[in-house]
Amino acid sequence: MLAGSGGNMSIRLDRDRVLITRSGVAKGRLTPDDIILVDPDGRHVRGDGEPSTEMLMHLFVYRERPDVMACVHSHPPYATAFAVAGIPLEADILPEVVVYVGDIPLTKYASPGTNAVPESLAPYVKDHNAFLLANHGLLTVGKTLEQALNRHETVEQLARILAQARQLGAVNRIPRTDIDRLSAIRRDHD
Ligand SMILES: [Zn+2]
Repeated sequence: MLAGSGGNMSIRLDRDRVLITRSGVAKGRLTPDDIILVDPDGRHVRGDGEPSTEMLMHLFVYRERPDVMACVHSHPPYATAFAVAGIPLEADILPEVVVYVGDIPLTKYASPGTNAVPESLAPYVKDHNAFLLANHGLLTVGKTLEQALNRHETVEQLARILAQARQLGAVNRIPRTDIDRLSAIRRDHD
């Protein structure tokens, strides 16, 4: 999912506290010292170093989505390839994507680390759990860190399969009636 020190993760502990990964650290080698405690406005509470440069994006999601308690952001190669090509990821080709993730909007390009990133999410954040960030990467959210991470892996797997299917020359969709049934399962789980 990650190269170098790319990507970032956060968890909302409660109304006043968010844990987020430190800027510039490889996520595969995280230690407790690499987690920074901030308040919902991004003020530093505890931990050495700077919080992730994408903190504005995480805090925006928590403000807009009271149900979300964790965010995972990375630049996984297949999903990011679609984000670079400007090709949306269709959710309605694999049942597990419909059930566990739902539709995946492709947002407008926004300069990483700026307020343009939350602004690019604004049209979609209330109704979606995964967002493809143009020329950047993937953001997934969930009630738990595990759910956000599972959604991340599910979207990257979808992107790999979709890329292969496009090479084979056909992408068949799940029938509309079954999409409705699978979507209802997701809403029941949410
Ligand atoms: Zn990024």
